[in-house]
Amino acid sequence: MKLYKKDTPFTFSRDAIRFFFAANFYIMMKILGIEFELESEYLVLGSIILFGPFFCSWACPFGSASYFATRIGNKLFPKLQFNIPQPYDKWLRMLRYPLLGFFLYLFFIKGVSYFGDHIEMYKSTAFSWNFIKVKHFAVLLIPLFIPNFFCKYMCFQKAGYNLINKVCKLCKIKRNSETCIDCKKCDRVCPMQVNPSSKKEICGDDCLSCYNCLDNVCPSKANALSLEFFGRKVNPSIFSALAIGVYLIASYLVLFVYHW
Ligand code: SF4
Ligand code: SF4
Repeated sequence: MKLYKKDTPFTFSRDAIRFFFAANFYIMMKILGIEFELESEYLVLGSIILFGPFFCSWACPFGSASYFATRIGNKLFPKLQFNIPQPYDKWLRMLRYPLLGFFLYLFFIKGVSYFGDHIEMYKSTAFSWNFIKVKHFAVLLIPLFIPNFFCKYMCFQKAGYNLINKVCKLCKIKRNSETCIDCKKCDRVCPMQVNPSSKKEICGDDCLSCYNCLDNVCPSKANALSLEFFGRKVNPSIFSALAIGVYLIASYLVLFVYHW
């Protein structure tokens, strides 16, 4: 089972940006121990509200590690790729919501800092400490065989982003049911099995904003799928360049103001 479409200039640029953010995180923070956080939670939340779940497919170091592990698994073990069948997939995805509730409890009730040192947060209870240990397997090992395992079944932040984007719909993918010919090609390139062909709009539906489905996949002459930002159709390549530019500039500003 091959879950990723052939590389295009668009996917190549997206993966280069992903690689930059993942390498930045692992080299600067994990190896050199330098606090150079381009993934500040305030910025991430701001970007989710403004740009949708853009962060997930372009700048999240864990999402990127999981994505690259998935691609390696696709290449090395093409016959050992599994998707968890329905309805188990649906129920397992739901597990992220109680997990989110648990971490919100730590933050709001127990007063554990979330917007700071994540390791301190994870160390605050035995459960969260075991969670972070399992997280490394879920990010690096399991996606070799079960694509995007971590994002689908364990990332409680993604559950929170889904809820935020159910309310803040400034950026969304729309499907025109008049021009859609129901070929389901968009479903086949979606790494999260969001099934765009069955939706009128995609916003807060476990979409990762990878834009695979918008990358010359739709055969409909009128291109039934489109990206909308503040109610206007936008080109996914231009929008991605704008969003990543804004995110990077804001990150360096935060770094400059709070760390230096
Ligand atoms: S719906 Fe489209 S943009 Fe969202 S995850 Fe699926 S393929 Fe990517
Ligand atoms: S690829 Fe386009 S035409 Fe085919 S199902 Fe998706 S939206 Fe409809």
